[in-house]
Amino acid sequence: MGLVLCPQVATWPKLLFLKIEGEKMNYNTYDVAVMNYPLFNKTNIDHHVRNIFEQPIQEDVEVPIYIHIPFCDSLCDFCIYNRMLKPKSIDMIQSYVDALIREIKLYASHDYIKEQRIGSVFIGGGTPTVLSEKQLYSIITTLKKCFNINHCEMSIECNPHNADYSKLKRLKNLGITRVSTGVQTFNDDMRKRLHIQNSSHAIMDWFEKVKTLSFDDISMDLIFGFPETNTAYFLNDVKKAVALNLGHLSIYKLTLFAYTKLYKDIQKNKKMSLPTQEQMYDMFSKSHEYILNHNYSIQSTQEYSKKGKTVKFWDLIYDGYGNNISFGSSSFGYINGYCYQNQRTINGYISKVRDNKLPIERISPKITYTQQKERAMVIGFRKGFVSKEMFFKTFHTRVTDEFSSQINNQISKNLIYENKDGYGLTSKGLYHQGLVSADYMGSIFKNVSPLKKKMCIGLHEMPY
Ligand code: SF4
Repeated sequence: MGLVLCPQVATWPKLLFLKIEGEKMNYNTYDVAVMNYPLFNKTNIDHHVRNIFEQPIQEDVEVPIYIHIPFCDSLCDFCIYNRMLKPKSIDMIQSYVDALIREIKLYASHDYIKEQRIGSVFIGGGTPTVLSEKQLYSIITTLKKCFNINHCEMSIECNPHNADYSKLKRLKNLGITRVSTGVQTFNDDMRKRLHIQNSSHAIMDWFEKVKTLSFDDISMDLIFGFPETNTAYFLNDVKKAVALNLGHLSIYKLTLFAYTKLYKDIQKNKKMSLPTQEQMYDMFSKSHEYILNHNYSIQSTQEYSKKGKTVKFWDLIYDGYGNNISFGSSSFGYINGYCYQNQRTINGYISKVRDNKLPIERISPKITYTQQKERAMVIGFRKGFVSKEMFFKTFHTRVTDEFSSQINNQISKNLIYENKDGYGLTSKGLYHQGLVSADYMGSIFKNVSPLKKKMCIGLHEMPY
């Protein structure tokens, strides 16, 4: 439901990037948040999967767990994530839940995973609350049996349509501490046009009811850049969101790919137009300023938190140093120096797990020492800030000893700034975060053309 730009990007046909660039939709693959570094290998997949728990890299940081539920009650026209319409067959959903439980147990049976200190759990999708209370109960209790997650931050993405008061109350009793929903826009005409469920009235009503449950935090997502919208339109959405006084807001730029219904509709209807990049930047910068002026701080490139409401999951997932354990079809993770993505089809995922195999479809080679430093920059800027102290403590060298030319260049372009603690993204840099991060992938993209580099980053694949 919430457009978490983390572990669930769907299949990306290679031609799609070429189609997007150069057309009236002036988007590029750097608009997609970079999550994986190093990128996936095209060969030796089984070999790397076999070695994933060997030769542990010692890191003393907490680890987030992500769980992907790929079902939705209805499909929004712009959605780029790995999700499908909730199947009519209850058996298929139950088979998915059974596979998820088996996958969790499979990982937890390895000493390397058992020793991880879990700091946060995030159940996302799709729409996790399409599952029954019983199914959610079985997933959460399996997690509790396999990992020490008592007193841990635990978030779930909800759709007001299937997350009523009594379901949420039970989830709270099970240990859920945060709820999040993808509102996308409060404009009812746009919601109908893009097939986003629920009226804005129903959403407001839902927020009021959820507030009475006293979760530690409630969060919502908005998207800017829908067809025929402008800064005034988006500021109206942002003002409504800020007035709700939630602990956390996520603001996403519409990223349109060739397989989405919205893309196809725009191709057919030449009159339907998207905002230009200049208009998009104006929407972003004015809303960014408005949010910062209303007691929110930047938590990561697309996330804002109120004081005391920082979301640990985002902190951990974007720290650039530790592991991210990820369960469910198509989800992305990072374990012991390997980036991986699970099987992208639900049937493929279920059948791998049934065979007691890790359901990994794509995996990187083991990270090198040079790439660990690059990852700290690439993922660190996804968070919006690279700490000088953490970098030095980990690598015994300064950021500028390793990356002075990129740092100086990006400061001169006003993409990043430097202060005594580290390097942060300016508002221009926040908007172009993918571009900033891509600059630190030197060891992989030596002698590779800019176009090929863009394609590879978009596909999460090595250039060779
Ligand atoms: S609710 Fe809409 S935006 Fe959210 S995952 Fe489902 S289809 Fe995508």
